[in-house]
Amino acid sequence: MLTIKRVATVVSNYQELGGEKDNAAPAVEGEAKGCGRNCLGKCCLPASDLPLYTFKVAGEDCAEESIFSQRPPETSFLLNLLLGQWENRMNQGLFRYDITTCKTKVIPGDHGFIVQLNEGRHLKKRPTEFRVDQVLQDFDERKFNFTKVGQEEVLFMFEQSDDRYSHFFPSAPAIFKPSSPNVVAINVSPIEYGHVLLIPRVLDRLPQRIDCASFFLALSLAREAADPFFRVGYNSLGAFATINHLHFQAYYLASPLPVERVPTLRVMTSVSALRNGLVVSQLLKFPVRSLVFEGGDTLWDLSNAVASSCMRLQRNNIPFNVLIANCGKRVFLFPQCYAEKQARGEVSQQHLETQVNPAVWEIGGHIVLKRRKDFENASEDSAWRLLLEVSLSEESFQEVKAHISEAVGLHKIGTEAYNLHQNEEAVSASSAPAATLHWHRDCLVMKGRA
Ligand SMILES: [Zn+2]
Repeated sequence: MLTIKRVATVVSNYQELGGEKDNAAPAVEGEAKGCGRNCLGKCCLPASDLPLYTFKVAGEDCAEESIFSQRPPETSFLLNLLLGQWENRMNQGLFRYDITTCKTKVIPGDHGFIVQLNEGRHLKKRPTEFRVDQVLQDFDERKFNFTKVGQEEVLFMFEQSDDRYSHFFPSAPAIFKPSSPNVVAINVSPIEYGHVLLIPRVLDRLPQRIDCASFFLALSLAREAADPFFRVGYNSLGAFATINHLHFQAYYLASPLPVERVPTLRVMTSVSALRNGLVVSQLLKFPVRSLVFEGGDTLWDLSNAVASSCMRLQRNNIPFNVLIANCGKRVFLFPQCYAEKQARGEVSQQHLETQVNPAVWEIGGHIVLKRRKDFENASEDSAWRLLLEVSLSEESFQEVKAHISEAVGLHKIGTEAYNLHQNEEAVSASSAPAATLHWHRDCLVMKGRA
């Protein structure tokens, strides 16, 4: 068994109360007797009202999508709501520190790595031991989970709309059948403005693992926020997730992330008769061997391709991070091995001393530093060398690509130089056979439901 010791990030003010004692005792079915903490557990949530945002499922046909993309940019209602409510919680003093006073700078160089000095995030906590060699782990009732979070940390519930429009209800019953509500809550240790958690079906106590419906929800959050500076991220177990209760993160950072600017090479495509085939590209000139997914006729196409890929990595015990960028139009997949190398004693002492945990935001190029000297001495070279430690070897990365090609039913493209992303040429479909996308069975069900 491989483990590392690290200081867990405190994402909720209820995390340090000794999660084992709090509402661990299951409430009697059908009997809503609050535990007195107004929490997200079975004791309180079914009898509660919370704000509700319902999102339309956009992009089910290309016509609608093209109209959508031609609209002049405007701040979406959802993003205004999210950021407004987030500021409201900041004014209520729910955060552990004031993120707006943390110093941030862009490191000079070709890539524009962003570093933040955040001395408050990890103080006053002892390191905990984490198992890093098992991407899929069962939900553990004895550990902290999001049902213990207080409702004041929740911004709103986030559900699919019943019609073709988005709606907002300032107050709605927090019980849905047959599944439980998805909630958007603050991260009380934010690393950026608007840093929140998306917790799918909170009462169902899902472990930290990607499934088609949950990933579609995360992609829909990015789509509905409709601002390229609002990103959604995911860390698997073994890739620096510290809470084994399904959650995504999201935040607003008004700057391009380095990973969003690197050139890419198309390596796989669905090359079917679809008007807008799925394309998977490999990042070039980037220290972490990574893939980016784009295209598809609908949001479901893109969502299912990424989810199927993640599910394949999970089953093969390969830790990974996911970054949803550009309003849900681009999804980066970062398979990684830093924690495993750390557990094996293969990470350089210099990087260990910084205590930087390279999770989704760090790999994207937004690096949160804990020590002032690391912040002051930060250079493109030091950021690059840190991320080099995260990357799989070329051999392992080839295996990942083979897994994904098979899981999604994509065809490999020859790696001709003209394929560079900047050229924006259409992928030649003439010589490739028509492909059937091999969605995971769960994905097929969900695709039909939309
Ligand atoms: Zn309760």
